[in-house]
Amino acid sequence: MNQPVLPNSLEGRDVAVHLHSQTNPRQMEENGPIVITRGEGIRVYDAAGKPYIDAMAGLWCASLGFANERLAAAASRQYAELGFYHTFFQRTLPGATELAEKLVDLTGMTGGKAYFATSGSEANETMVKLAWVYHTVRGKPTKRKVIARDRAFHGSTIAAASMCGLGFMHREFGLPLPGFLHTLCPDAYRGMLEGEDEAAFVERLARELESLILREGADSIAAFIAEPIHAGGGIILPPAGYFPRIQQILKKYDILFLDDEIVCGFGRTGEWFGKDTVGASPDMMALAKGLSSAYFPISAVVLAPAIYEAVKEFNKAGGNFGHGFTNSGHPVGVAVALEAIAIYEEMNIVEHVRAMGARLRGHFERIGRASPIVGQVRGAGLMLGIELVADKASRTPFDPHLQVGMAFDRIAYGNGLVARCMGDVLGFSPPLIVTESDVDEIAERCETSLHQLERQLG
Ligand code: PLP
Repeated sequence: MNQPVLPNSLEGRDVAVHLHSQTNPRQMEENGPIVITRGEGIRVYDAAGKPYIDAMAGLWCASLGFANERLAAAASRQYAELGFYHTFFQRTLPGATELAEKLVDLTGMTGGKAYFATSGSEANETMVKLAWVYHTVRGKPTKRKVIARDRAFHGSTIAAASMCGLGFMHREFGLPLPGFLHTLCPDAYRGMLEGEDEAAFVERLARELESLILREGADSIAAFIAEPIHAGGGIILPPAGYFPRIQQILKKYDILFLDDEIVCGFGRTGEWFGKDTVGASPDMMALAKGLSSAYFPISAVVLAPAIYEAVKEFNKAGGNFGHGFTNSGHPVGVAVALEAIAIYEEMNIVEHVRAMGARLRGHFERIGRASPIVGQVRGAGLMLGIELVADKASRTPFDPHLQVGMAFDRIAYGNGLVARCMGDVLGFSPPLIVTESDVDEIAERCETSLHQLERQLG
């Protein structure tokens, strides 16, 4: 990584022509890219042939690992049969129908519908547009604003980025757009005041939300969007009772609840969907990533019947629903997603994730008890976080300039383990196919890396 980047190497050519997502351009020019050439199960290999356990499943998404033959075969069969067709103008494809049935059934959104898109950001933006349609049809066209939460991640397109609660998604872009508001993040470890217990913390979050609504005017607010468990914001599982209490307030003010299941969905949290881990009942759900194990860019929104009725009413004069993506319901995407879901069902994904998640968490808790710099181990299923702190008793964070989380990532990478720091929270979201010995190996590499980091910090 620290070799000079030779202009004619793949690395040099890449630096010359390729602008990368979520990458520092100067560091890229100095160090060059990391080239990944192939995958096998939960491992990826770099250009020198060195294997890494990717304990982040790429970007929280490759639930079935990095070279699943059944997914490859499903894509290949579909490419040979019908490589593209669309779902505009009353067209459908057998796979799209079957996948929509499956998603409505799995999510429990009885009588609802599934809408297809290609990315998580598009799915989230689709939910916002549907919320606007819903309120307009019901005679409340002024209900337009969306409330998200601090530290949320909802995507990179303009409205999705506006819904993020992370400064780095806003700063250079002059975001959020007007009308995208933020309320407190339910991080009990960092957010609870002295003398406050979790129930009192939840009540304070609820009151804070209610005063934001009243300040802005309930007749201006369309929707509240949340991930059941914050992913990129630092693996934050809200305290018990948070979502039911928040939903009471949303109902009181006729505000829709949009559930971003883009990371949490398809078994990640030890339930089919994160909403069931946290006791939430959404009006719409955005699905992506695990939907196809990320083998094809496909996403979906599953919407409650009342939302669909509004769309129908809105277009009663004969116009089309004016929304759609070229690749909505792409035949290869739906074929891959159907195969991924079939595999999840065959492997009894929920039970498997619960067992592997409990094993990994057990390791992390043991490691955390012994380490002077582990403040908290948290999360659910195979979505776990370790928060590093300078002082455990007082929960004092490290000086951000030390970039302790980044230092861990670098050490772990050297030890053949891909984790992902979010500030000083270390994230672990491995492919869901991990076995007991994989989990033990992840924990072992994590422990070794943590010891190295402790020594480095002195
Ligand atoms: N929502 C959440 C919770 C995410 O983690 C992400 C991506 O990481 C997105 C939305 C955006 O998905 P995409 O990058 O496919 O647009």
